[in-house]
Amino acid sequence: MSLSGKTAIITGSNSGIGLGIARELAKAGADVVLNSFTDRDEDHALAAEISDQTGTNARYVKADMSKGDECRALIETVGVCDILVNNAGIQHVAPIDQFPVDKWDAIIAINMNSAFHTTAAALPMMRKAGWGRVVNIASAHGLTASPYKAAYIAAKHGVVGMTKSVALETAQEPITCNAICPGYVLTPLVEAQIPNTMKEYDMSRDDVIKNVMLERQPSKEFATVEQLGGTTVFLCSDAAAQITGTTISVDGGWTAL
Ligand code: NAD
Repeated sequence: MSLSGKTAIITGSNSGIGLGIARELAKAGADVVLNSFTDRDEDHALAAEISDQTGTNARYVKADMSKGDECRALIETVGVCDILVNNAGIQHVAPIDQFPVDKWDAIIAINMNSAFHTTAAALPMMRKAGWGRVVNIASAHGLTASPYKAAYIAAKHGVVGMTKSVALETAQEPITCNAICPGYVLTPLVEAQIPNTMKEYDMSRDDVIKNVMLERQPSKEFATVEQLGGTTVFLCSDAAAQITGTTISVDGGWTAL
């Protein structure tokens, strides 16, 4: 599968799953645009490293996905978008009656609203190019729920719903829109939850990983960023041209329970 000649914009891609997806898309030949809200030397260095390793043109563009106008500006600044991966996301865990309003608003803005703004800006470019792929990184929590994650779960269910609607709007065009629903992946977002959980349950790191985090993941293994990158490349392939408006779970069996 060659994605040579395609430009892919991956939101929230200076770490974790987004970076893993960017690396796999670049290996498949796409010119990738990395993004986050920072503008550090190391952000640009990641793009340079990907260019060196793959011979593609990778760059980094700063934009804060909590702000609608910056989401749209990211796409418009790049000026071409064949593949859009809506990946930026944050988490906050609290009972709903104690959920900080600013955290609720930030999660809904970054995890859900950003996909509305970027998709709205990118679709006209895909139509002009006569080809397009929208890949939304939702979650097993876009299909099921857990306590204390109301904002995240509301946002991820929203993304799955938006995925279906965009797919219907583009169904008769050479454009697809799908959501990938990962289970637990050991990224900085998940790593940051381990110390508190160790304290909360008075457990070792290994026990937290196996008995708390992977409790609902029947494989008892984390999914990897490379697997999510490979799934994204597949959704961009010709084999996936009739796959639209659906979810692909990469969750070790979580949603089969
Ligand atoms: P991560 O913290 O490693 O990455 C999140 C990315 O989003 C980072 O690049 C960060 O800079 C970026 N980001 C955060 N706020 C932003 C903002 N305002 N503007 C632009 N970028 C911003 O976490 P991750 O685990 O790689 O998560 C990536 C996506 O995958 C998220 O949407 C997350 O909900 C989803 N997901 C993760 C897991 C998991 O187990 N790690 C499981 C299911 C879904």
